[in-house]
Amino acid sequence: MTASAKPAIVYRFQEGVYINLTNRCPNLCVFCIKTKWQMDFHGNNLNLSAGEPSATEVIAALEKELAKAPFKEVVFCGYGEPTMRLDELLFVAQTLKGWRAQAKYPPFSIRLNTNGLGNLIHHRNIVPALAAVIDEVSISLNAQDANTWRKLVRPASGYEDGYSGVVEFIRLCVQAGFKRVVASCVDKTGANPEDVKKVAQSLGAQFYLRSFLDAQN
Ligand code: SF4
Repeated sequence: MTASAKPAIVYRFQEGVYINLTNRCPNLCVFCIKTKWQMDFHGNNLNLSAGEPSATEVIAALEKELAKAPFKEVVFCGYGEPTMRLDELLFVAQTLKGWRAQAKYPPFSIRLNTNGLGNLIHHRNIVPALAAVIDEVSISLNAQDANTWRKLVRPASGYEDGYSGVVEFIRLCVQAGFKRVVASCVDKTGANPEDVKKVAQSLGAQFYLRSFLDAQN
């Protein structure tokens, strides 16, 4: 599929409206689709190499998109790690929460998709700030142990021991009382989904097995 020329700040997928805050990420997962799909996601060009959107631009794009058609959730996702832009993420999420309080749109959830490295990126516990504005968190656990995690996510220098940080992030999210905390693993990557599920459940999180994505359909 060919990407549209203009990068999408927000885009639709299933019943959600997704926010593309950044392409930056401390990982280079073997299963990451951004390279394979050449920064395209079902016809949306998610390539932000010309510049990341400001919080104001994201809010303007959201207002335009949310008015167009029904949606059930707004998700911070995109082809990158949203917590790399924590200030913008929190500001936009706070705005969404305000719109929800004013019933500007029918009820919706606010979700974050993350690789779980946010506390290591920021050298502090960011979970309380997230819990104040986000309803649900989906965290990529990806592996049952640190060695498998390292092989699969190929972390940047400084994040090699990140697996324990991801596990701790999940534990903190469960304690913080989000409406839903889901730890995921991608199928057919070499991780053992049953063992990853045990780790997720031992932390009090729900488990989700993501399909391995190869070609877009
Ligand atoms: S954490 Fe997500 S965005 Fe980052 S490389 Fe892995 S799959 Fe891609």
